[in-house]
Amino acid sequence: MFEALKAQPADKILALMQKFREDPRSDKIDLGVGVYKNAEGVTPVMRAIKAAEHQLWETQISKAYVGLAGDPAYADAMIKLILADTVERGNIAAAATPGGTGAVRQAFELIKIANPSARVFVSDPTWPNHISILNYLGIETVTYRYFDRTTCGVNFDAMMSDLKTAVKGDVVLLHGCCHNPTGANLNAVQWQEVIDLLNARGLVPMIDIAYQGFGDGLEEDAVGVRMVAAGTPECLIAASCSKNFGIYRERTGLLMMVSNDAASQKLNQGTLAFLNRQNYSFPPDHGARLVTMILNDDALRADWAAELEEVRLGMLGLRQGLADELQRLSGSDRFGFLAQHRGMFSLLGTTPELVEKLRADNGIYMVGDSRMNIAGLNADTIPILAKAIIDAGI
Ligand code: PMP
Repeated sequence: MFEALKAQPADKILALMQKFREDPRSDKIDLGVGVYKNAEGVTPVMRAIKAAEHQLWETQISKAYVGLAGDPAYADAMIKLILADTVERGNIAAAATPGGTGAVRQAFELIKIANPSARVFVSDPTWPNHISILNYLGIETVTYRYFDRTTCGVNFDAMMSDLKTAVKGDVVLLHGCCHNPTGANLNAVQWQEVIDLLNARGLVPMIDIAYQGFGDGLEEDAVGVRMVAAGTPECLIAASCSKNFGIYRERTGLLMMVSNDAASQKLNQGTLAFLNRQNYSFPPDHGARLVTMILNDDALRADWAAELEEVRLGMLGLRQGLADELQRLSGSDRFGFLAQHRGMFSLLGTTPELVEKLRADNGIYMVGDSRMNIAGLNADTIPILAKAIIDAGI
């Protein structure tokens, strides 16, 4: 049987990480990998996570299974964090998942069983794993224009015109904040226009929110997802705690089904539990428990929010520093978008050939589509990157 297997395409980002590790140059710069790193290049365990783990170690007396949808207290705490009180709790079904990827995967599976003919509209570009999982599940994917390579902002008119080709029952996948890979985001007025279009055409929104707190702040980053949840008859929300709690390997995510019809909540909740049962039974609990402890404890929560804010402001400082340095070297404002983008990533908007040149000549690693992880920079590497970008003629 095994001889029938074909080699699968390598994940480009993971392959790039491997290449970086093998590069002997001591001044190499890693802007590829999608994890937050501090100025020392470390992805730290957050203080509140350490404190919660300590408490958990002292108090946890059993590791028996929890529920198929995870601990309801985790869902409650996350729903509050993401949606505040914009939607009645009774209208939301939710299940813990292994990371945001697990939530995305379960959402796609749910779409497949709810409406096998639904197409999923994804931004061009989007997180490559969206497309990869959709293809794997045999769901038809349609891309809508999103990133304008001239302005490095959102091409909103093109996006709206492409979404107008969607038909009733199609799903529109939107990034809640901090768009990956571009860093370019919708403003509140644009969110409202999208919502009006979704409602006019009977389209179902699916929001992937993996970076709440990394852009403009915990509340600010949830504006779009809250507007969609409150303003559409039903939506799917896939959330990740990997970045904002720094618990990547604990695999902590949540899938929500929001409906304006409370009567369907029980059926929806049962469907999420069923989907978990088919794929892995009980979702991981450790990360979810830590998140719940932090969100429900005033002191832990305040410390977590403060550390997250330091992370966010640090990335904004790096963005501004890079934009300023590029302005100084180029004598133009054409890199000003770097300071406007939000989140961990920015798409530089250059060609794969020039991305490869930066890697070969300067040991600067970014993803082939020119996605940079801003958190991979520090005060010392900003001038090096800026000079390399100008020298490469970007
Ligand atoms: N969605 C997006 C847009 C992401 O960037 C990521 C992380 N790369 C995820 C979902 C899922 O992250 P995880 O599975 O690690 O929680």
